[in-house]
Amino acid sequence: MDNTLDLLLKIQSLNDELEDAKAQLKQIPQEIVKLEKQISTREEDLKNAETRILDLKKTYKLKEIEIADNEEKIKKLNTQTFAVKTNEEYRAILNEVDFLKQKNKEIEDEMLGLMEEEEKLKNSIDAIRSQTKEFTDTAQGRIAGMKKKTESLDEQQKLAKATLDDDLAKLPDDTRELYKRITKVRDKAVCAIVDNTCTGCYANLTHQFLNELKKRNKILLCETCGRILVYTTPD
Ligand SMILES: [Zn+2]
Repeated sequence: MDNTLDLLLKIQSLNDELEDAKAQLKQIPQEIVKLEKQISTREEDLKNAETRILDLKKTYKLKEIEIADNEEKIKKLNTQTFAVKTNEEYRAILNEVDFLKQKNKEIEDEMLGLMEEEEKLKNSIDAIRSQTKEFTDTAQGRIAGMKKKTESLDEQQKLAKATLDDDLAKLPDDTRELYKRITKVRDKAVCAIVDNTCTGCYANLTHQFLNELKKRNKILLCETCGRILVYTTPD
């Protein structure tokens, strides 16, 4: 009976190991997806900043062309003033020149804003780039580690399952049936006793019951939760 009780504890521990591996194997793919999402968000942010710098440069060039065009128009209008016949015509041309000059001033202000934004982005892009690389490298390292861990958990699971099956076969038939029956309704079928308490439901065990358990000569169930209780001598 001593052997059976120890075997039951071993079976329970193998079962715990299997459950733990199963939980980790379920968790890992979710964590990988989360990290991959974070990587692509960072890379997108970097790309957006780089594209914005290029856009700002392009817009700045277009504004320069617009100013040059307006200056060309002003020059033409100024030459036209020599040929005008009426005051009205003359005033109209001057108004047009004023309008274009005002327009160019506004464009220059816009260009100043564009330049400031480009400057600011250029100053921060190196930091963004290195932070993105650092984050991506770390995250990819973690992903590779988790993929490796999946493989070792798979192996560990196979090994534990094989040992568990072997050990279950070693149990007396009625004990195995009892173990299986409890496993169906409880997370744990076998519990060690710690501090005079069932580690499954944390019920205190009576002195008399403890004495029975200490004998280790039969299978006894917790009166509160129905799990198999095993008394072990502290190492
Ligand atoms: Zn209990």
